[in-house]
Amino acid sequence: MTQIHSDDLFRRAQAHIPGGVNSPVRAFKGVGGEPVFFTRGEGAYLYDVDDNRYIDYVNSWGPLIVGHTHPEVVTAVQEAAAQGLGFGAPTATEIEMAETLCRLVPSMDLVRMVSSGTEATMSAIRLARGFTGRDKILKFEGCYHGHADSLLVKAGSGALTLGVPTSPGIPLSVAEHTLTVSYNNLAEVQEVFNHFGEQIAAIIVEPVAGNMNCVPPVPGFLEGLRTICDNHGSVLIFDEVMTGFRVALGGAQALYDVTPDLTTLGKVVGGGLPVGAFGGRQKIMEMIAPLGPVYQAGTLSGNPVAMAAGLATLKLIQAPGFYEHLSRQTQKLVNGILGRARDADIPMTANQVGGMFGLFFTGEEEVTCYEQATHCHLDRFKSFYHGMLEHGIYFAPSAFEAGFVSSAHNDEHIAATLQAAEQVLAKLSL
Ligand code: PLP
Repeated sequence: MTQIHSDDLFRRAQAHIPGGVNSPVRAFKGVGGEPVFFTRGEGAYLYDVDDNRYIDYVNSWGPLIVGHTHPEVVTAVQEAAAQGLGFGAPTATEIEMAETLCRLVPSMDLVRMVSSGTEATMSAIRLARGFTGRDKILKFEGCYHGHADSLLVKAGSGALTLGVPTSPGIPLSVAEHTLTVSYNNLAEVQEVFNHFGEQIAAIIVEPVAGNMNCVPPVPGFLEGLRTICDNHGSVLIFDEVMTGFRVALGGAQALYDVTPDLTTLGKVVGGGLPVGAFGGRQKIMEMIAPLGPVYQAGTLSGNPVAMAAGLATLKLIQAPGFYEHLSRQTQKLVNGILGRARDADIPMTANQVGGMFGLFFTGEEEVTCYEQATHCHLDRFKSFYHGMLEHGIYFAPSAFEAGFVSSAHNDEHIAATLQAAEQVLAKLSL
């Protein structure tokens, strides 16, 4: 693989873009080396500026569930763009989007469109606070919900201590309203509610965590959160920005049959364009302006071109058998890599739910929380990552990001990936 033009572009980028990238993980700090600059995508493939071809398991961090430049999505975008790039006024396409989301997502009565996942979670938190009249929220270690101030927070010295910011620029007085406990640990949640129950507006959770690699909920975890929220009058928010239309047609709430009060969406719902959404129970959503007093707005919200990309994608994923196929392909990939790791005597375990997966370089049988995820063999991941990249396989450049399979990944792509993995893993074991 050559990377001449990518290297040049990275140097040029750094002159006027902080760190050369518009989102930090793209800078390759998690794996070392320099980022690849891409020119185009097609189906399961990405092409870089040096004309190298990669099988892509990032898929723009999840949105491209039908692969790159799917003809039906591209046509929908072209047709919408020809009619106008935006009006800042209501359109029929927005209604179609809202009707589709409320039909597909079990808990959604009303939905508001926004332009990113961050906006969706930030607005859902404000709404939950407005609805309950309470300030505190509870989140889980290792879950990422975008970069709003209340959500870039980690636990203080223990679960019962107030939160501290994970970034300069976030006032302590904001962070202290966020309580953080371990993922999949209901006992800790209960303990926090025993102390602060009356003050907690909401629990926000990734129903399958995808930002500490891929960590599914243990049986009873999501159900337990539902019960605790019911017992304390708190709002249960499922952040399905990643899992929505990724793990099942109705998202994780359909897969695990647990009904949240509010749901946030992003990624797939925009088909590759900048879109987010939050929605849920009628009574709560009616608190949003202009119906109610909780303010929320957006110049580009419900943008017609973005709605067209999202709707075209949502149409394609409703094809019969779509998720069975996606899940089967993802399983083939994951089981294949695990098999090659076993053959090479490299300890590895994996998690997979629908079209998302995570590989962990660890001897542990199962990874269920952030602490375990962070104790995996990170150097081995980095070597694996660069080995696969050399073989034309593009994984997320971080050990803490889930991988994504699209409906464009066929058996040939998976066989090529496994062949590469076999060679790379064999070298790692030397
Ligand atoms: N919530 C989850 C679960 C996410 O994975 C992400 C982004 O990866 C976000 C929220 C934030 O979305 P965005 O990057 O569109 O702001």
